[in-house]
Amino acid sequence: MHKKTGLFFGTFNPVHVGHIIIANHFAEHSDLDEIWLVVTPHNPFKKKNTLLPDHHRLEMVYRATQDFEKIRPSDIEFKLPQPNYTVNTLAHLQEKYPGREFCLIMGEDNLKGLHKWKNYEVILKHHPIYVYPRITASGQPTEVPRDRIFKIDAPVIEISATAIRNDIRDGKNVTPLLHPEVWKYIDEMNFYRSTTPGQAREA
Ligand code: ATP
Repeated sequence: MHKKTGLFFGTFNPVHVGHIIIANHFAEHSDLDEIWLVVTPHNPFKKKNTLLPDHHRLEMVYRATQDFEKIRPSDIEFKLPQPNYTVNTLAHLQEKYPGREFCLIMGEDNLKGLHKWKNYEVILKHHPIYVYPRITASGQPTEVPRDRIFKIDAPVIEISATAIRNDIRDGKNVTPLLHPEVWKYIDEMNFYRSTTPGQAREA
């Protein structure tokens, strides 16, 4: 039988407990066998000073997920041509792992824009979409066939990576929001502090 693998895409700058709670909820309360946190690479054409280099974000995801048997980091998009379109990543993964069935995990808020994704019909045809609730979401576009969408009633935890970065910059305590090993890495590497070279303040 095919191993059902849920893909949770993100920049994870940094990965926080909100991400892990969602991934763990899917690992424990859905038919997915594994959840992969797919770290989206830095797009060289979109300059964003606060986005850490790919390998640092991957390292943080590795640290945050190491205690979870069914949750893994993925750097699959690092080697793919830019910009990364999800449809291409899925095709690449399917070829590399023919024994797996890949599903997409996304918040209700992202579902609203799905019909604008490149070849979204192709994605939907081959990959079920698992959706979790977000406060910011309402409604669903009629373009998306409902029989390919599976709603999972995961907890709504409104923690944001942007807020975490701003708090670190301002010297606030963010340790409850991060895996201890992730915080250790950020602290040791001096990430997101205004004094870090190449890191600008965020608006
Ligand atoms: P940023 O604030 O830097 O934009 P983010 O946490 O919103 O960061 P990503 O790191 O790209 O964004 O998050 C990965 C995925 O997880 C995205 O699809 C995002 O919508 C979702 N996500 C982010 N925060 C939460 C949360 N607290 N609960 C559930 N899903 C979340």
